[in-house]
Amino acid sequence: MIELPDVERMIDAFAGYATGKTVSDVLIDDPNTANIDSDLCEERVKGHAIDTIERHGRYVVVRFRSDVSIVFHMGSEGEIFLESQTTPPDENSKIRLQFAAGRELRYSSTGSEGEIHLVEGEDFTGLGTLENLGLDPLSDELTAPRFVDLARTKPRSTLKGILLNQEIVAGIGNEYADEICFQAGYRPDLKVKDVTDEQLKRIHKYLRRVLRRATLHWQAAHADPGWLINRRKRGSACPRCTSTLKSMKLVGRKTYLCPRCQRAA
Ligand SMILES: [Zn+2]
Repeated sequence: MIELPDVERMIDAFAGYATGKTVSDVLIDDPNTANIDSDLCEERVKGHAIDTIERHGRYVVVRFRSDVSIVFHMGSEGEIFLESQTTPPDENSKIRLQFAAGRELRYSSTGSEGEIHLVEGEDFTGLGTLENLGLDPLSDELTAPRFVDLARTKPRSTLKGILLNQEIVAGIGNEYADEICFQAGYRPDLKVKDVTDEQLKRIHKYLRRVLRRATLHWQAAHADPGWLINRRKRGSACPRCTSTLKSMKLVGRKTYLCPRCQRAA
């Protein structure tokens, strides 16, 4: 039986390679398992780069920069792994995402186990437990005290780690986690055990503010000269103080911060 840590490990094995790479072709070996609209796939998957790879419970979500995601439910023994394109797929292969360099990402599971969906935007409705993970960051349930309590369960995690933890708050990805830390004025690599409740409440406040704005006014938010999200490039200047932004790897993700505007405590 596949459990969360197994899915996590599986992702660890391929996410570093696949993130940022362009998918050159999609080969469907089992159309009964792979619920993939071929027109949408042609238009938004082939020739597009993978933005992030995330786990939601036992789902693996491969998000493309074209704002579609391929969602894999791992079933009881599904597996996603990298393989050379020259190795013939076995009878359990369901789908293969090929990269130009000669490798491919394969999903396999026995018989009719597992599911694969191609989803536009954030429309995960109907995908069972994927809808029910963590707290919705914009729901009334996620009050400041609740967020503090949830964060305190992971004292050794970083602020970014908490924001990206889908079991605490569902739906925050790499870029918004950085944006929230930037807007709140704290370094994303601060450890939860080193921040006060008041500081966590401030993170909560900006978490809501950033996500609400990004949800309701996506275009405006992404065009806002005061937002970090528009400066995610090597050597970019901080939108506030014009210092050169710093990048680092945190929680396995490319992270941007301003060493001047974001405080260490
Ligand atoms: Zn700055």
